[in-house]
Amino acid sequence: MSFDSVLGQEDAVEILQDEIEKERISHAYLFSGQSGIGKSKLGYEFAKAVFCQELKIDSCGKCISCRKMEHQNHPDFKIISILENKNNISIDQIRELKKEIAYKPYESEKKIYIIESADQMSKEAANSLLKTLEEPPSFATIILLAEDTSRLLPTIISRCQQLKLKNLALSEIKKLLLEKGIAADKAEILSRTAHGSPGKALAAAEKENFFASRKEIYDFLTEIEKKNSIEIFKLTKKLTSLLKADFPCFDLLSDWYRDIMMIKQDYLATVKNKDYLKELKRLAAKMTLNEIINKLALIARTEEYISRNVRAKLSLQVLFFKLRQPDSK
Ligand SMILES: [Zn+2]
Repeated sequence: MSFDSVLGQEDAVEILQDEIEKERISHAYLFSGQSGIGKSKLGYEFAKAVFCQELKIDSCGKCISCRKMEHQNHPDFKIISILENKNNISIDQIRELKKEIAYKPYESEKKIYIIESADQMSKEAANSLLKTLEEPPSFATIILLAEDTSRLLPTIISRCQQLKLKNLALSEIKKLLLEKGIAADKAEILSRTAHGSPGKALAAAEKENFFASRKEIYDFLTEIEKKNSIEIFKLTKKLTSLLKADFPCFDLLSDWYRDIMMIKQDYLATVKNKDYLKELKRLAAKMTLNEIINKLALIARTEEYISRNVRAKLSLQVLFFKLRQPDSK
């Protein structure tokens, strides 16, 4: 694996390769972009290229440094991520990073640390990291990965070189899925659901229940006005467990109402769920544009609540009762 394995991020790769070549590697980077877009992969391949003993601006995959990276035991590289059962990067994790990063590299000339989900650092952790970003050891590079940069302290952002990873085109994602041996009709649906993220598309493709659960959710939404409370409880219970398994419930829900909105405005070409076109058209005819916008806002708000650890099942129940109402404000 080398930079070639980072899909669709040629601009970012070019910038990083240029900096490695000119020996102008920054002390801090911020890679931003949605989940599954390739932030971790880019950080890892960057570190691998910096450490590689054979090649200058990419990795050979054969030298001792490359092999250590592949076996996840390179002593000058570390990934910090949210620990199991925690909901943010803690101050203790940053304290440990600061202690370790002060020591000179063991094998390379650089030390590279990746902080995943940097937009989910605790306040104390962020403030503590800021001091290191202000005066980093000369050999250290810290790469922050973030989906939502608005959650980062502006003072942190200003100390990082920011690279925004871009969403892939539908056709690029479809091509990737076809290369993985996924049938054309499924690849079509998955690529539309992935919102430009190859990682999301592949994760959905690997979920055995993806198509069955999608059908269950969309069949329910088709007839939502006829559903009683027991049926809503049953579905939200199922969605709660799907969410725990990282199933893209909210992407599917927002795609459904976005499709209705597109039909309402006669943008038929941008409809994602073309296999439900007839049902979507029927619903579009019954709803006002305002109503659709309110429902989309509700979905976004519920996703936000749940990401902030508000109880998922209850939030989903409230959401579906509101989605069932004609005007769900
Ligand atoms: Zn190498």
